Amino acid sequence: MASKFLNSIFIIILIAHLNVNFVYAVNAGEIDYAQARQRMVKGQLVARGINDKRVLDIMSWMERHKFVPENMRAYAYEDSPLPIGEGQTISQPYIVALMTQLLQLEGDEKVLEIGTGSGYQAAILAELVKEVYTIEILKDLGKRAQKRLKELGYTNIKVKIADGYHGWKEYAPFDAIIVTAAARYIPQPLIDQLKVGGRLVIPVGDMNMQKLLLVQKQPGEKLKEYEITGVLFVPLVGEHSKVQPKEEPKEDQTENKKWKPSEDKKWKVKQR
Ligand code: SAH
Repeated sequence: MASKFLNSIFIIILIAHLNVNFVYAVNAGEIDYAQARQRMVKGQLVARGINDKRVLDIMSWMERHKFVPENMRAYAYEDSPLPIGEGQTISQPYIVALMTQLLQLEGDEKVLEIGTGSGYQAAILAELVKEVYTIEILKDLGKRAQKRLKELGYTNIKVKIADGYHGWKEYAPFDAIIVTAAARYIPQPLIDQLKVGGRLVIPVGDMNMQKLLLVQKQPGEKLKEYEITGVLFVPLVGEHSKVQPKEEPKEDQTENKKWKPSEDKKWKVKQR
């Protein structure tokens, strides 16, 4: 009787053990994040022309799966945006790489991001520059990103819960500004808070069609605008969605150009 009982216990323990091993094996075998990341860099970024070595380097080791909800981790290195809760999304890796490359960062800059979301873009920026300031309008999302960035050890990122339309005057002017939600027009406070010579990367348009713009502030406050490509972002909400621009940008203030990287200074490659 006793031996029968012990036998049953043994079988239960054995099954439990096999199960645990099976789960471990599946987890380890199913998702090789490092390998998925290398595939992403080669197949999605390099293949489409991303050539800033620092951007490629950081995206090849930044653990994107730690910035998405648990049930999305398996898709973290896929060629698409992913939901991060509250109806918001983390951008497609290629778009993150493209926008970061367009900022032409060298290492000493102070950068402002509007739309913290998961904190992934902020973390990438923090590896590339000296100081990152990022603003999120949704409290829960912002707090979660702040906690995540702190746990990952970032001390050069400041997160603020606010409407990014107004920028962050206290720390202005910025060398570069990146807006990761679609604006109907370029918010004037962001232009004001950009240094002369600074770069602003922003998707502009409505819900159906947006253009990614690179805006460079020239001496005399003149703006040089490059259309990069068509994109689809979640909308910039808050003040921006209520207020119309005071005045349309004057024709002579903005110089519209097609983006030709060769026109610009060569991006310096500086390894950390
Ligand atoms: N950069 C993010 C993704 C951004 S998704 C990442 O790496 O994960 C766009 C984000 O912009 C959303 O989190 C949204 O809540 C936020 N947002 C929208 N309007 C905003 C505003 N006016 N000010 C600040 N954040 C805003």
